[in-house]
Amino acid sequence: MEKYIGAHVSASGGVENAPVNAHEIGATAFALFTKNQRQWKAAPLSADSIRLFRERCEQYGYTAKQILPHDSYLINLGHPEAVSLEKSREAFFDEMKRCEELGLDRLNFHPGSTLKEISDEACLTLIAESINMALERTRGVTAVIENTAGQGSNLGYKFEQIAYIIDKVEDKTRVGVCIDTCHSFAAGYDLATSSGFTETFEHFDNVIGFKYLRGMHLNDAKKELGSRVDRHDSLGKGTLGIEPFKWIMQDGRFDGIPLILETPDESLWPEEIKMLKGFVK
Ligand SMILES: [Zn+2]
Ligand SMILES: [Zn+2]
Repeated sequence: MEKYIGAHVSASGGVENAPVNAHEIGATAFALFTKNQRQWKAAPLSADSIRLFRERCEQYGYTAKQILPHDSYLINLGHPEAVSLEKSREAFFDEMKRCEELGLDRLNFHPGSTLKEISDEACLTLIAESINMALERTRGVTAVIENTAGQGSNLGYKFEQIAYIIDKVEDKTRVGVCIDTCHSFAAGYDLATSSGFTETFEHFDNVIGFKYLRGMHLNDAKKELGSRVDRHDSLGKGTLGIEPFKWIMQDGRFDGIPLILETPDESLWPEEIKMLKGFVK
């Protein structure tokens, strides 16, 4: 097994540009938006875009297990109001479909928010139902729940909340998890110390299980432990420091999945990727 390391690269001008952008920064993995992440509607992917995306992934050596598409920030699969919930579910289905068309096998998303209108449990149940609906209408794409910083009324900041969703998903083979290091730290999981790192991932394994891990977001954090604020920093420049990223690179439990930088300074990505590769023993 090996480490697949990359960043969330631009797909501007078309999804087919993402593998090129990833290759140019020396990445062995990448994330992308398959449509504009700040708009509800998008034109369907053209046959040319799909063909070129697949060709270039093959050319540069990216297989589905190295690619972690991210859905739109507008989607809230636990929306308390029926009309908005329906809109989110349709948009999520469209995103899953786009992944399927591109030959991708997973879609990363933030679980959802209560908007302080419903209980956490009610919201988590809606999210699980939304996932079930999307899985029923698509083939081969796993819904990958990202842990959050717990900012505002966003759920998914506790591993127990993610486990609660997974428990209600009917097809367990097509639900997974993405752990973001910055979000974990902001949510109160102390990845900055060796003992905290060990405990956090033991806890993760007990509550959710490593068998569900389908990707990681590697971000340093701007704010302190437990801040519940989602602000990423470049590796080694924030409150997490560089050590946790060494530990991840030297730990076989993180092999074979996309490890994705969402750090704020894109000009540093080639260096950050090189550094991470250097940590691998
Ligand atoms: Zn993330
Ligand atoms: Zn974030």
